[in-house]
Amino acid sequence: MNAAPLHKSPEVESFVSHTLKSTKPLPPVTWANAASELNWLNVAILTVVPAISVAGIWCTTLRWETALFSVVYYYITGLGVTAGYHRLWAHRSYNASTFLQYFLAVAGAGAVQGSIKWWSRGHRAHHRYTDTELDPYNAGEGFWWSHVGWMLIKPRRKPGVADVSDLSKNAVVRWQHRYYLLLLLGMTFAIPTAVPWLGWGDARGGCVYGGFVRLLVVHHSTFCVNSLAHWLGDAPFDDKHSPRDHLVTALCTIGEGYHNFHHQFPMDYRNAFKWYQYDPTKWFIWVFPDNEVRKGQLTMELKRMHEAQEKLVWPQDSNDLPVVSWASYVEQSAEWPLILVAGFIHDVASFVDEHPGGARYIVKYIGKDATTAFFGGVYAHSNAAHNLLAMKRVGVLHGGIPRAVDDRVVPPSQRLRVVRYAELGSAYSSSTACSDQDDKEGMLE
Ligand SMILES: [Zn+2]
Ligand SMILES: [Zn+2]
Repeated sequence: MNAAPLHKSPEVESFVSHTLKSTKPLPPVTWANAASELNWLNVAILTVVPAISVAGIWCTTLRWETALFSVVYYYITGLGVTAGYHRLWAHRSYNASTFLQYFLAVAGAGAVQGSIKWWSRGHRAHHRYTDTELDPYNAGEGFWWSHVGWMLIKPRRKPGVADVSDLSKNAVVRWQHRYYLLLLLGMTFAIPTAVPWLGWGDARGGCVYGGFVRLLVVHHSTFCVNSLAHWLGDAPFDDKHSPRDHLVTALCTIGEGYHNFHHQFPMDYRNAFKWYQYDPTKWFIWVFPDNEVRKGQLTMELKRMHEAQEKLVWPQDSNDLPVVSWASYVEQSAEWPLILVAGFIHDVASFVDEHPGGARYIVKYIGKDATTAFFGGVYAHSNAAHNLLAMKRVGVLHGGIPRAVDDRVVPPSQRLRVVRYAELGSAYSSSTACSDQDDKEGMLE
């Protein structure tokens, strides 16, 4: 075997090279040792299923009800692997209710890919040691190796260490591991035979199309995540490793095709993060919105709102405005048109003549507290008027802003302003600073 190129973090890299040097792989599989080195159970499953499928299609009429059922059943069992085995258990990318966990564990058993625990163990090693010999389905060994080859022979090396202690403690994972064979037989053959039989009298079609053919398709579509997704497409996030993004792979794998993104962000419950990308597994997870998933969705909404907010011009922060005493305000407004509203001093020089309610209502309040008049005493101003007023702030009255955030202090457009860390402790929460005795006494300019 050739050593695959390593591009992992230094710890992982040194762990990989140390392990490769200090442990010997099993000898290569040849005709001479094939009998003892093949994984006969997997060989049987991966050859008998396609053989029976082909023979079955050849001599069994396909009824439309059975065809429809088989497609639906393909999605159910496939989602057991993509939404369940992969995104829920291997990556813990979202939280699922107990009901959903049992549903996914049972559905996944119908995909015949081993128990959740075994599958996740290998998959975590695949992410940690991608493209190295400690990756159980190392894409560096070629397309067919990563697609099925790795399952047909006994592993030449133990996969790299990966912690699955969380799964060992999970009641649903343990339950599935314990009854795996029973669940497998029930979900793979009994149910897809029984439903068409009892529903429309097509037991044979159910067994062939819902059972074998559907399993064949589920197998190779999920295997494509290890082969096609590491081979076809481009690498928009990181090209150091083999994972690739491609729509074709997504179509083949119920949405697991944005694999370059996935290897960069395995903890993200999405594979396709853009709305127009095909990811039915993500849509399925959306149908069962969990508190944490909702947080993810809200985060994206806040991000969009923040972007919208960044494009606007906002009033000056009260921290950046001079603090002025009442006496100084009265004195300065004798020379320049200043009006006090809700603790803020506003320069209305450019606005007096534009005031829709007439100049005289403004002039009347120069050098006075117009808070009550502005908020309805004389005229209940619109949201737009309040937003515009805030743009004319030039100072803060000493002790004039109430400590608690008040709707009169925050203009309507800023009520739900998306706060960033830098903004916490400033902006409208800074009123406490204004009551500080040592605060600067400023002159308005
Ligand atoms: Zn991968
Ligand atoms: Zn993964």
